[in-house]
Amino acid sequence: MRSRLRISSRILREIVHDSLAEDREVCGFLLGVVDNDDFKVVELYKVENVSAVSQARFEMDPRRVYEAHKYAERLGLEVIGIYHSHPGPPTPSIVDLEGMKHWPLVWLILSSIDGSIAAYVMKDGSIRELEVLLE
Ligand SMILES: [Zn+2]
Repeated sequence: MRSRLRISSRILREIVHDSLAEDREVCGFLLGVVDNDDFKVVELYKVENVSAVSQARFEMDPRRVYEAHKYAERLGLEVIGIYHSHPGPPTPSIVDLEGMKHWPLVWLILSSIDGSIAAYVMKDGSIRELEVLLE
């Protein structure tokens, strides 16, 4: 069975809103709960994109990564994924694929062009797309 990512339209609207307000990619963590292959997003943890390479790249300050995990813990949630926007289709870039190898979380990508989304996870060295359920 395909893994699923459940996300509310409120949270999705928030990411769309932020991505339209920024010239660079927006990024952060998805906090939520996992039940087998069922991931549910409960909260966002927004992180500034500190990439100096390009506006079409994202990088997070490691201190913020640590804080995201502490914040999730306080809420009784887990860091289940990473989200970021693309100024194009929501398909993983070469850099994203490299990142997925090291961060085996759900990767949610949002197109800031048309608001479309897709979610992926790297498992056993291969990339899998999750079914996204808007709730
Ligand atoms: Zn990307």
